[in-house]
Amino acid sequence: MFRSLRDFFSMIRTAIIGMGITIRHMFSPVITINYPEEQLDVPLGYRGIPVLLSDEDGNLKCVSCELCAKACPVNCIEIQSHRDNQTRKKVLDVYNLDSTWCMYCGLCVEACPFDALAMSDQFELASYDLPGLVYTRDQLAEIGRRAITPTDNIRETQNFGIKTGGARR
Ligand code: SF4
Ligand code: SF4
Repeated sequence: MFRSLRDFFSMIRTAIIGMGITIRHMFSPVITINYPEEQLDVPLGYRGIPVLLSDEDGNLKCVSCELCAKACPVNCIEIQSHRDNQTRKKVLDVYNLDSTWCMYCGLCVEACPFDALAMSDQFELASYDLPGLVYTRDQLAEIGRRAITPTDNIRETQNFGIKTGGARR
């Protein structure tokens, strides 16, 4: 039995408060969504995987200077290039980014002098196989071409980020 009348009223009061919270939430707007069918809009500035950007003609802006790879603290960017005999410009052959090592710090994007790299809003990076977590040049370029925010002056944008509409890989 209750040790005192005070304990009894305390229990009633606690139950009423609890029920009040439950009833209040029953009539509040639902804040959960049916993921993955429904997706939240990821804010600009969210740091997903870094992606390669292209110019208005669809050509990669990257000039293979490798500054991003040198800036990466965990060495998760691999770049291979060759020099075009006619234009004497470097051509990007391989740009692999190992997302298992990437810590989304954005230092690679900060280091790029050509607005050729940006932090994306891509976060659905799960894969059943390890090699699938290494993003290739073409995969990174394809995501970068989905940009729906300006890709010039990346360093002026919040967190060096772009939005791609949140579409999955
Ligand atoms: S975000 Fe950071 S860890 Fe990831 S590739 Fe760029 S520099 Fe490396
Ligand atoms: S992404 Fe930028 S920093 Fe990296 S190799 Fe290309 S131009 Fe250089």
